[in-house]
Amino acid sequence: MLPQDPSGDLLRQVWGFDGFRPGQQEIVEAVAQGRDVLAIMPTGGGKSLCFQLPALMRDGVTVVISPLIALMRDQVRALREAGVAAGALTSGNTDEETDAVFQALSRAELKLLYMAPERLASGGTLSLLRRAGVTAIAVDEAHCVSQWGHDFRPDYLRIGDLKRALGVPLAAFTATADVETRAEIVSRLFDGKEPVTFLRGFDRPNLRLAFQPKNSPRKQVLDFVAARRGQSGIIYCASRARTETLAQALTQAGHAAVAYHAGLEAETRRAVEVRFQREDGLIVVATIAFGMGIDKPDIRWVLHADLPKTIEGYYQEIGRAGRDGDPADTLTLYGPDDIRLRRTQIDEGLAEPARKAADHARLNALLGLAEATGCRRRKLLAYFGEDLAEDCGNCDLCIAPPKLFDATQAVRKALSAILRTGEWFGATHLIDILTGNTTEKVRERGHDQLPTFGVGRDHSRAQWQAIFRQMMGRDLCRPDPERHGALHLTEAAHPVLRGEESVTLRHDTTASRPATVLRTQ
Ligand code: ADP
Ligand code: ZN
Repeated sequence: MLPQDPSGDLLRQVWGFDGFRPGQQEIVEAVAQGRDVLAIMPTGGGKSLCFQLPALMRDGVTVVISPLIALMRDQVRALREAGVAAGALTSGNTDEETDAVFQALSRAELKLLYMAPERLASGGTLSLLRRAGVTAIAVDEAHCVSQWGHDFRPDYLRIGDLKRALGVPLAAFTATADVETRAEIVSRLFDGKEPVTFLRGFDRPNLRLAFQPKNSPRKQVLDFVAARRGQSGIIYCASRARTETLAQALTQAGHAAVAYHAGLEAETRRAVEVRFQREDGLIVVATIAFGMGIDKPDIRWVLHADLPKTIEGYYQEIGRAGRDGDPADTLTLYGPDDIRLRRTQIDEGLAEPARKAADHARLNALLGLAEATGCRRRKLLAYFGEDLAEDCGNCDLCIAPPKLFDATQAVRKALSAILRTGEWFGATHLIDILTGNTTEKVRERGHDQLPTFGVGRDHSRAQWQAIFRQMMGRDLCRPDPERHGALHLTEAAHPVLRGEESVTLRHDTTASRPATVLRTQ
């Protein structure tokens, strides 16, 4: 700490905050000292302060590159209200606003200049920034520089040139923590020279974490929402169509709910954003298009009606709840169809093979979390490089520890059923074989003659469904999109088959489709 704690004084005087949030002060000091910094902080962790405050401690102007015009305008407004000389150059400006910014710059009055990345493409920008006496660059949402990420912004690639041309320190901020994206940020924004890196404060202890297998998805959603009537919340769905049908179902059940996705008119979307921000108790049923730039502190819950794409996406999305620090609930529903959908999306995408493998791995991390057998928060934070000393006490598995069983034998039976049928069949047929159910399909294929036929009678059908789901969750087998979801073994299956590894699973008998399937038992 500095002797007089100038950063703490500014924090109180300008922002009126009592103290720093975990991790903020170290970042503020490194940025104020003019070091190159990469800060990975979760959404809602308070990253804007980490470049705004140092800008006031330094001589000259700090340029802030941000991809979201609405967010820039909000921040500039808030800074001005706090008496800080800030301005923005974006396509949303009126001519008067732009003139005022230019004048303030020429009189060396600005401390913070916000700028959309597109500005960097215009020839005059560099000389403007040179004349203005820019002494630091801050980059918000720095993962937008990653060509692999879904938020890629080509103009972000110009930021590295800007840093080189101005010869000033750069501080990059992002909530995306995976190693690959981090490496890409370092190579593109810092010329590959490692910046001082902070990875802090990923724990959001006020968020309750919970996962449930989908058994009756609509009812699960309605029950969850009914228990939280009047609270603002977000429901994330995997498709546009599903946001519409779910919003309708919720409205019919008497809730204030609206759909939101990228297929809606920009005006409609904006209207939903404004309504959500202002109204209490509104439910937005959305695709992941909703959320970036939403700054509503009292979102009380986030429900994933479908499995998210990656563990990073999951954490970013649930992180929108409870930013005020009060308790907030999250629940993620998932089932075999989700796993199939997400695998298919990766396999059928246009990415290079290495990228696809990485995407499968990130999906695996999320599935591992879904099928966890102990504290979920520990597992989640471990993925982001943070150690939790004790179990959290605020996740579904801490609150109601699941019954576990040694599933090694069962899993080996299931894996050999997959192998003996040539990796040509889905879970339903495989379970028929294991439980000795002589369906027409079983008879036609002669599968009642297999050595595995009927070897799994010690488990119910519902239990087998839970076992198959957990096997997919651990990536022991994968559905093949080109064979209608037929399961095939992965590398991870072989040590189990050879008896070199054992498998512990949760003893939950929740079936994936109980109504029809349970009746046949
Ligand atoms: P993000 O990391 O998502 O950009 P913000 O910078 O918008 O988050 O901060 C999230 C919220 O936390 C804001 O409402 C902000 O005012 C508040 N905040 C940030 N730092 C502090 C602090 N030290 N004390 C209290 N509130 C803070
Ligand atoms: Zn826990």
